[in-house]
Formats: sequence, structure tokens, C-alpha cells
Amino acid sequence: MTDAANKPLRYLFIDFNSYFASVEQQENPLLQNRPVAVAPVMSDTTCAIAVSYEAKRFGIRTGTKIADAKRLCPDLLVVPARHELYVDYHHRLIEEIDRHIPVHKVWSIDEMACKLDRTEAHPDAAIDLAHRIKQGIAERVGAHLKSSIGLAPSSLLAKIATDMEKPDGLVVLRGRDLPGRLLDLDLRDLPGVGPRMNRRLDNAGVRSVVQLWRLSPKQARAIWGSVGGERFWYALHGFDIPDQETQRSVIGHSRVLDPDSRVAHKARFVARTLTLKAALRLRRYGLAAGGFMLAGDKWEKGWASHVRFPPTQDSFVFLRWLDAMWPGLVAKSGARASFRHVQIGLFDFVPVAHRQHDLFLHADSKNSVAHRCEELWGVIDKINDQYGGDTLTLASQHGQNLQYAGTKIAFSRVPDRFEFQQSQRDSAEARRAAIHVQKAIKPRASARWGRPAWAEG
Ligand SMILES: [Mg+2]
Repeated sequence: MTDAANKPLRYLFIDFNSYFASVEQQENPLLQNRPVAVAPVMSDTTCAIAVSYEAKRFGIRTGTKIADAKRLCPDLLVVPARHELYVDYHHRLIEEIDRHIPVHKVWSIDEMACKLDRTEAHPDAAIDLAHRIKQGIAERVGAHLKSSIGLAPSSLLAKIATDMEKPDGLVVLRGRDLPGRLLDLDLRDLPGVGPRMNRRLDNAGVRSVVQLWRLSPKQARAIWGSVGGERFWYALHGFDIPDQETQRSVIGHSRVLDPDSRVAHKARFVARTLTLKAALRLRRYGLAAGGFMLAGDKWEKGWASHVRFPPTQDSFVFLRWLDAMWPGLVAKSGARASFRHVQIGLFDFVPVAHRQHDLFLHADSKNSVAHRCEELWGVIDKINDQYGGDTLTLASQHGQNLQYAGTKIAFSRVPDRFEFQQSQRDSAEARRAAIHVQKAIKPRASARWGRPAWAEG
């Protein structure tokens, strides 16, 4: 089965090193070649969300508390995160890579995969391409944006290859290098093997990469408890497995609630804000949604429900459904509900241009209330574009809602530029709440591999 030796190179994976810190160094010469930590807020009690290589030499890592980092390196320069800048560079980097090879998939703000064609499949050609990309980035985006590039027969192996040489790496993993080049790795170094999967593997007696390698696809499937195990096995052995994810199926937002937002009426308020934000994205993409889902959980007990309706872009419709479904969520969670987490999603998309209006609902479609509400939201979006994200909002959502509306960095979904324009006027407080520090808490990028669309923003 393992004729991986003959597998051509099919993927180029690029991972930017110390991405946020590198962007800061690129922007500010005073930070260049110096130990830098990027922090969500300027406070010693917070954690670094990125550190430069110069800082890593002092043992400072993503997730190190700023106070500890300063102890490790008294000359450490701490700068506040500027996520809009990182998103801007992200798009510029993609533009540059696209000049050399189309970006096949964006995995996160600092990771992208490209598919090699036949002419690029030979190691010499692929290495040459990788050098051209690096040079193009240095010349047209910034010399301080270093990347590690992995070349391999599968996207998983190419990603693993980027971890083998940092910073500024270029690693080719050929079929004939397998499994030899993988044997030094810990199971936890493999993308997709988080603490939970590691435990499952351990329970199955798999404690090293060589043991994992020797499994059969069937055994992998049994350990994973899903076809995902088989897919992982094939990808690890250098087979090209088509992506399971197709096009966008859900526009969703979720939020872990602050302790003081956990009571039902405040949690509902947050859910409403998330709904408005999702509806804005929906309109930006030129889509109408025919489904709305609401989910929440009160610690262990989860609850989810969804409804379907004629496709619309009207935020009022989504809010009405949210309000209609909310009592069910509260009832399910008990009288003294304390919510840990709420999640909303829009789905069943149709491009607005192709939408067939429901003849009965929109008998006089141009003048119908439904149509005019959609137009109204179009105008609200335009005004907010021009004057700032919170110029026009619903009175019921005014006030502290901004704390939740800000665009956070989602490592599985890179925000569009417009989402930052929308949140530009948010207060410092809002920004603080908005920053996604999951990476700081869980610095293993690998845990993100193959997360469902739901795991986004
Ligand atoms: Mg990176």
C-alpha cells in the first residue's frame, strides 16, 4: 500500500514565522532585530500573542505572561496588537503568492497552501518556485516577513515540513523520505493530533510516529472514530485527499461569554449582536440566507435549534427568529440559566442575484415590506461604511454591544478588510474584548487542522 515513494510533490505550504511580531518589525525599524512581544493589551498580566525570534532566544513563547517575559528578557519591547494591520498584510501576502502560484487554501492568517501543477512537481522546479515566492515577498511586501515553506505530496505533509525548519525554512518531504523524516517527531507535533487525539492514540497503544505509520487505514479510522482517521492516514502516507469542505455553508459567530454576561437577558443581547454582524457579512457576500440557527450551552448541557424561511438579507427577520427561539433555549437551560457560550449561524444561501422571490410573500415584491427592509439594511451598511461601524445601529443594541461587535482575529477564519473598517470606531475596551487570545492559551497551531466551518469567528 505504501508506494508513497513514487508520489510527486503536490503541495506547497507556507507558514509565516512569528507573524504578528514580524509585521510589527516590518512596520517599525526600531523593533527590527530586537526581542519583541505583541500583547493584546498593554498590561503585565496579559500573555504574549506573538514573539519575535530574537525574543524566543530568551525562552519567551506565545502564551508567556508579559511579566514573566520581561523577567526573562529585561530589554523586551512589548507592543500592542494591531490586528487590522495583520489582516492587511495577510491580503498583501496572498496577492504576492498569487503572482507565482494560485493560493489554493487559506488555513489561517499566516498559513496558506498552494497546489503544484505537473511542471512544478519536480523538486528542482518546486524549490525554485519557493525561492521566487520568498524573494517576491521580500521585495514587494517586506524583507522582515520570513516564512517557512514545505513541499510534499500531501497538504498535511507539506504543513509538517514547514515545522521542520524555522525561521526562513524550506523543506522538501519526498515520498522516499517517508517515514524516516517523520520519526523524530512527537505525535503531538502532527497537525490534527491535539491532546484528545493523543489520548485516543495512547489508549490504542500508539505512542510514536512509527507506530502510527504502521497502522492500517482501517485501524486509524477505528481510533479516530470517524472517516477522519482514514483521511489522516492517507494524507500522512502522501496520498492527495480532496478537501472535504466545499463552499461556504454557514456564516456564523460564536462567543464565550464574560462572567457578567451569562444571565439570560445579557446572553440574548450578545446573540443579537452576533446576528447583526453575521447578517452584515451575508450582505457583503451578496448572499441571502434561508436558514437561521441558534445554539447555546450552559456548561455541560448544549442546545441547538434551527429554522428555515424564504431566503432574505433582512436583519430584522433573523432577529425575529432569534427572539422566537430564545425562550426555548432559556427553558432548556433551566430557570436560573447561566450561559457559557452562544452561537448563531445563517445558512442555506442563495446569491441575491439569482433569488426567486416567494410569489406569495412578495406579491408586489418591489414595494413589499420585506423588500423595503432589505433596502433599508443596504442603506444602513453604506452609512456605517462611510462614517464608521456604529454610526447607525438598533436602539436595542446600542451601548455595550460594541464590546462584542469588534472584529477579533480568528485563526481559522481571517476577517475581511471591511470587518475592520466596521470596528474602527470601537473603543479601546471593545478592542480588548475583541481580541481572540485562543492562540495564546492554546499555542499549538496544529489543533486547528480541519476544524469545521462552525469553529469560525
Ligand atoms: Mg506561523
